[in-house]
Amino acid sequence: MADRRNEPVAVIGLGRFGVALALELVKHGTEVLAVDNDPQEAQRLSGQLPHVVAADATDLEALTQLGINEFGRAVVAIGADIEASILVTSMLAEIGVPDIWAKAQTAQHATILARVGAHHVVTPEHDMGERIAHLLSGHLLDYIEVDDNYAMAKTFPPHDVAGVPLRDSKVRSRYGVTVVGVKSHAPPPGQLSEFTHASGDTVLMSGDVILVVGKVAAVERFAAAD
Ligand code: ADP
Repeated sequence: MADRRNEPVAVIGLGRFGVALALELVKHGTEVLAVDNDPQEAQRLSGQLPHVVAADATDLEALTQLGINEFGRAVVAIGADIEASILVTSMLAEIGVPDIWAKAQTAQHATILARVGAHHVVTPEHDMGERIAHLLSGHLLDYIEVDDNYAMAKTFPPHDVAGVPLRDSKVRSRYGVTVVGVKSHAPPPGQLSEFTHASGDTVLMSGDVILVVGKVAAVERFAAAD
């Protein structure tokens, strides 16, 4: 796959999602062309984003004039207007943008976006709802499902894995999870409290914050253990 890390990105639709995305990209040094059909919105954002244009992205001529066909990456961040989101995505595919990301409101919307040419479809509201459901258990400080049924979580170690080197704790065979990172709650004097890689020699203390990976049920069971 081509390395597109430094290529400019066209962000189309400057609602909450599109603006957050564009600002984060700019913050990390990526050139962004931000497009919204609401001139007031475009005007309002021109102080925060270097290249904001008011244009209707369902207009192929407008897209071409903006040079979107030259972009290696584009994100369709139009949400509520599903018709416009589908139209814009299909036009970006037609003009040959090689890496198209699109935001979907529903599962059906996601299916259509993929059919009309989106290479990646994201469903932030749905994904965030699922994530919060896991966080609501109260045992997890953070949670991300990195693949179907495989998750990474930030949590505390149960008592029975604390106080001994990880290799002796049998955490993997007993719980089915791997501890990959640890942030000590009481770092040695002069050292920052930050995450470091966990190894077989790492001794966890209760109160440390750890990162674990494993199957969803295993991660949940581990986090709920005392
Ligand atoms: P969010 O849920 O992220 O706030 P919205 O769907 O509310 O997303 O906002 C999407 C943005 O997309 C709005 O600012 C709207 O003006 C813009 N938009 C809608 N249709 C078009 C279009 N055809 N061309 C460009 N921008 C559009």
